[in-house]
Amino acid sequence: MSTVPLISRLPPLPAVRDLLNLYRLQAVKQLSQNFLIDPKLTSKLVSAAGKITNGYVCEVGPGAGSLTRVILSRNVNKLVVVEKDKRFQPPLEMLAEASGDRMSIVWGDVLSHNLTNAFPEESKRDWTDQPPNIHIIGNLPFNIATPLIIRWLKAISERSNAWVHGRVPMTLTFQKEVAERMVAKIGSRERCRLSVMVQHLCYVEHKFTIPGKAFVPKPNVDVGVVHFTPLATPKIQAPFKLVEKVARNTFSFRQKYCRRGLETLFPSSMRDEQTHKLLQLADVDGTLRPFELSIEEFNRICQAYSIILEKYPSLERYDSRSEDGFDDTLLH
Ligand code: SAM
Repeated sequence: MSTVPLISRLPPLPAVRDLLNLYRLQAVKQLSQNFLIDPKLTSKLVSAAGKITNGYVCEVGPGAGSLTRVILSRNVNKLVVVEKDKRFQPPLEMLAEASGDRMSIVWGDVLSHNLTNAFPEESKRDWTDQPPNIHIIGNLPFNIATPLIIRWLKAISERSNAWVHGRVPMTLTFQKEVAERMVAKIGSRERCRLSVMVQHLCYVEHKFTIPGKAFVPKPNVDVGVVHFTPLATPKIQAPFKLVEKVARNTFSFRQKYCRRGLETLFPSSMRDEQTHKLLQLADVDGTLRPFELSIEEFNRICQAYSIILEKYPSLERYDSRSEDGFDDTLLH
């Protein structure tokens, strides 16, 4: 069995490809397992997180540990990994042992795992300070990447979960198309609800693209590596659910004037009048297309919608898509 060269603070370890063969770790499709084995690419992905030395890291979905060993080799103080698939116990435990007590393993679903207590108290920073030396890194499974980032954006807006520690940055992978949507500029073809949800809360960069053929097994798409730094002041000053609802409704008629999507915020009995009022209060041109609206204009629409909600509180639960017009999920 071949060994990887001695890397800082880790004893020589079997190569990840050998571990996958040794433990017959074939990818499970339901868990979106696509392994990244090329050391140049794993190193490049970890470098996209910036300086992590002496820091604290959470890695999502370590699998057989190809990124994990790069993270450990950068002399981090502590690394916690969250993995759902227990078949990876032997290679991950081998790494934890080699790490000299720096690595812990959580067996579970990252979607429900809370990172509030994952990092030490002394690593916390105030929200308006520079980001703490805490990092979330992961070659995410495709099937949970979008729900996970939406969940974490909500946590960022509430400064909960990992973000009780300050503006913790994230370096994560997505299908290239999703990465492009997240960074899409005003007026671009890719601009969508996700662009608004990400960009009003984070400074976001599409760092580089990894061709699908670099993964084992090879997915049908290329993969974008995206870096997020939460903003000290969100660009839209409104609760996450409200922003999400406004963005969803606005983009529900992507090629039409934004007025058309905004109308769906209101039941038919008050639709024309309140849409007119909304646009007037927000000082937004209703004939702009949704993808032509700036985040500042979305902010003004959200402020105007909040003013209308003060007068008609039951509208908060109004959802034009549900049968009776009311979305119960908005109650929670
Ligand atoms: N980090 C490894 C690499 O780059 O080779 C594996 C990446 S693979 C794309 C995604 C990993 O996430 C797999 O190990 C998979 O078992 C794990 N995973 C899938 N769903 C998960 C979930 N809900 N919570 C935690 N881990 C999950």
